[in-house]
Amino acid sequence: MRAGSAKVPRSGALLVSRSRIVIVGAGFAGYKAARTLSRTLRGEAEIVLVNPNDYFLYLPLLPEVSAGVLEPRRVTVSLPGTLRGVRLVLGEVDGVDLGERKITYVDPEGEAGELSYDRLVLTVGSVNKLLPIPGVAEHAHGFRGIPEALYLRDHITRQIEMAASSEDPVESDARCTFVVVGAGYTGTEVAAHGKLFTDALAKQHRRAGNGLRGDRLPRWMLLDIAPRVLPELDERLSRTAHRVLAKRGVEVRTGMSVKEATQDGVLLDDGEFIDTQSLIWCVGVRPDPLVQETGLRSEKGRLCVDEYLRVPGHPEVYSCGDAAAVPDLTHPGQYTPMTGQHAVRQGKTLARNVAASYGYGQAQPYKHSDLGFTVDLGGVQAAANPLHVPLSGPLANAVMRAYHLAALPGNRVRVAADWLLDAVLPRQGVQLGLVRSWSVPLESSSPELAHSPAGAVSSQRSDDSDGSDRDH
Ligand SMILES: Cc1cc2nc3c(=O)[nH]c(=O)nc-3n(C[C@H](O)[C@H](O)[C@H](O)COP(=O)(O)OP(=O)(O)OC[C@H]3O[C@@H](n4cnc5c(N)ncnc54)[C@H](O)[C@@H]3O)c2cc1C
Repeated sequence: MRAGSAKVPRSGALLVSRSRIVIVGAGFAGYKAARTLSRTLRGEAEIVLVNPNDYFLYLPLLPEVSAGVLEPRRVTVSLPGTLRGVRLVLGEVDGVDLGERKITYVDPEGEAGELSYDRLVLTVGSVNKLLPIPGVAEHAHGFRGIPEALYLRDHITRQIEMAASSEDPVESDARCTFVVVGAGYTGTEVAAHGKLFTDALAKQHRRAGNGLRGDRLPRWMLLDIAPRVLPELDERLSRTAHRVLAKRGVEVRTGMSVKEATQDGVLLDDGEFIDTQSLIWCVGVRPDPLVQETGLRSEKGRLCVDEYLRVPGHPEVYSCGDAAAVPDLTHPGQYTPMTGQHAVRQGKTLARNVAASYGYGQAQPYKHSDLGFTVDLGGVQAAANPLHVPLSGPLANAVMRAYHLAALPGNRVRVAADWLLDAVLPRQGVQLGLVRSWSVPLESSSPELAHSPAGAVSSQRSDDSDGSDRDH
């Protein structure tokens, strides 16, 4: 049954009790929209948030999870615990019926459900981008959710441990070689943190006397087809990142990509074959495939919206964040880039505009100029340009950490405590083996969930823990 909409105006606003706003996706945009709406409407409308997990994931700190700096729960914020007045429905939306004004979803136990709406907010974000390169889908792993970050942390630890116990120097070298493709902020941060992590593990092995042969430290390569690292950011940040990576021993190869990935390694564009068991795919993201399934007009997979974040022709449907092509009023003719900075601000504007559609306040166009960017380079290193002032080294690192603590909607003390502990204690080299290679396929419309061996998203009812790992 679809809830009714406007009733009698009250204090200059329409009474909207029982009107239902359904928000699909609780990332940067959806979380902020839900929070702002609940504070603005104060129970006057039912706010329902549909998300596969019960947490908001603070993606920028994910590289620190894969490097064992932060525990995974630190970068999550409980939805029911922090969103008052918002009903959480656990599920993945698989259909939108714009005519009937309802969505269908599948819950974590595989049951189908549906929800009618008066206003629909689509903030489904993005998924790993694939390129048509042979072997990549089978042998590479992406970096878009907790399962992938946990898999990578275990995988890295396991490679160092198996390299240390191997009698075969060729195998040992291959296990100690890590190839990251994509030198945007994700790939750069993964390589920067990964190198520090593996160096620390290798040194721990050597100190314990069950070490790797020789003094050589694990090899990390960072490839990008672009002529510089961080190609989408200010050139001064690129230079800082390149310098830090090179000093740390990460081999940066620009103008270079992968021709083929195999069980044993990676064939580069120039014909060189790199023996490795670790291909980490950070070439970027593409909008969530649900956008295409709506049948609405899209631009490069992003749902077209106007500057008020409304879908043209459907005034009851709104969208923003990575999933939406939002006109960039500061750069006419362009769309806003896929960043958390834009997503969170768009979520706020979107919520105000939804509230305005009920008579609360005035609708406003989305307009925001970049405030700069921070790139975490691990240890005390970072590159940052707050308000476009370029910074590097420990100062940039302090700015970066302060920014993340301010931007996190919860868990700040726990994150700060992990940073403090990491500064004074050795990195903990333990693999829990909870996430298997097959449960984090690169090609997935739900990178936020672990999958079962058959490829389906694992439900809480099915126990898939007996499958064997097929690490490449
Ligand atoms: C490793 C990494 C580091 C990053 N670092 C930075 C940074 O430092 N600074 C910055 O500005 N940006 C950064 N970004 C980019 C930033 O995280 C994204 O731009 C931002 O998350 C987009 O917000 P969103 O709300 O559109 O999507 P998301 O945050 O991705 O949220 C989408 C939500 O929708 C849910 N969802 C998806 N499909 C469905 C469905 N069918 N049904 C129900 N729910 C669904 C997902 O589970 C998720 O909860 C980083 C990204 C990554 C991957």
